[in-house]
Order: sequence, then C-alpha cells, then structure tokens
Amino acid sequence: MSATEGLRRLRDSLPLSARMPVVFLGHGSPMNALDDNAYSRSWAGLGEILPRPAAILVVSAHWMTRGSTLVDVSAMPRTIHDFHGFPEALHEQLYPAQGAPELAREVASLLASHHAEGDDRWGLDHGAWSVLSWLYPQADVPVFQLSLDITRDLPWHVETGRLLSQLRDRGVLILGSGNVVHNLRAMRMGGRPHDWAVEFDRHFAERLADRDIDALADRAGQGELLRIAHPSLEHYLPALTVAGAADARDDLVFMTDSIDLGSVSMRSFVFHA
Ligand code: ZN
Repeated sequence: MSATEGLRRLRDSLPLSARMPVVFLGHGSPMNALDDNAYSRSWAGLGEILPRPAAILVVSAHWMTRGSTLVDVSAMPRTIHDFHGFPEALHEQLYPAQGAPELAREVASLLASHHAEGDDRWGLDHGAWSVLSWLYPQADVPVFQLSLDITRDLPWHVETGRLLSQLRDRGVLILGSGNVVHNLRAMRMGGRPHDWAVEFDRHFAERLADRDIDALADRAGQGELLRIAHPSLEHYLPALTVAGAADARDDLVFMTDSIDLGSVSMRSFVFHA
C-alpha cells in the first residue's frame, strides 16, 4: 500500500474518538529527518490528521537500558545526536519540545511491575526526533521517552504496551519508533530486498492483522527468520509495545511498507478506535 493510500484511509476512518490512536513508525536512516521523501511526507501527513495529543510518549529503538525501564522526567528534554558521519545540518537540528515530568512520573508508577524509574539524563534520541520533526514540526506537544529494558524477552515489551494503553484515554499518543526488519549488516545500497526481509515483513503484517501478538512475541517460534531480520532486537521491540497497547476493538491501518537498502523495513502502522 502506498503511503498516500494509507493516509487517505486513516483520514476517512479516524472517528471523533476520545481514545488516542497508537502509532508505530519505521524510522530508517537518520537522514529521513532532513529528506523530503515518501516517509517524511507520510509522517507530516499523519501529524495533520491525528487528533492533537496532550502529550507524546515515545518508545524508541535507541534508548536501551539493562534491568530497569527508565522514563524521562526532564522538563526540557535535550536533542541527542546519536549517530556519526552525517551532514552538519543533521547534527545541528534541534527538537525543542517540552517534556511532561508529572505524566512521566505517573508512567513510572504505572510500570512499577517493570521496575520503572524516573530519570532525567536522556532526552530525545534520533529515533524520536527524526520522526517528530515531521509529525509535529512546531515542537509544541510535550514529549517524553520510555526506555527499552533489553534484558527482557519479547512478551515483556508487549506487556509494557498493555500497561500503557490506559493512557490513550487521556489524550496521550503512544509512539513506537524502530523498524519491522532491521539488519544493517545485510544492507545493500540500491539493491532489491532480501527474500528473508520480505518474508519477515509479510509475516509480521499478517500476524499483526490477525492480532496474533503472541506469535510476534514468540522468539523460538519465529526462529531463524527473526534472528536474521533482527540480529539485535532493539528496533523490533517498540513495534511489540505498540501492538500491546492496541486492543481488539481497534482498526489497523498500514501506512508505508517498503523495504529500504535491502534489509530495513519502513513499514509503519496505526491502531485506532
Ligand atoms: Zn534506528
């Protein structure tokens, strides 16, 4: 499906629901923060049709912690340029949104079973701001990040989403940022997608459409295909958290589903009531 078709379907179907949608965006290269392309245009278009959030909670692939889940409680999260070898313009880009310290502390309590704690040392990594600078270019919606405890297995991250889902009724946009397929070692410039990348991407989309989240969180069941699609899991986990925050009543709309550089799926999706 093209980005435009997904957006059109969303615009036609987003009802005046008080319950916020949940969104997963495949962020891909940091250059998408600067480049005017199909992805960045779809993010800008999405920002225009989503109900305006009271705050945004971002689960980004790029904030990994061990043994605890951290919630950024800073009043003014700094823009983190967590990449190397990109143009100066990207290193100079800032996303000066405010944080949401009170809400972030509440989220830490909500996730007490996940050993969550408030922390003010992170900010916004490029997984967050590269997409937010298109979604909300004015940086006028408070934003805070939640870390991924990468010592935990897949179901833990689905459960995180379930625990967070009640925030949807309070105008909070839960935004996952990662990639449904992410194997940088297998990247090929200008090359066609690897067969396994297409296969995992399709498997993910089908299971998600069936709401078979357990299958997506089954490491052994997905075996070698998961291992090659995600040599490390951090870009996959935010998609599981977003899936966990959806419920049976939600409709699912896919926005973009192309595979970049042979091994990075740019598939994005929205669950909405
Ligand atoms: Zn990334």
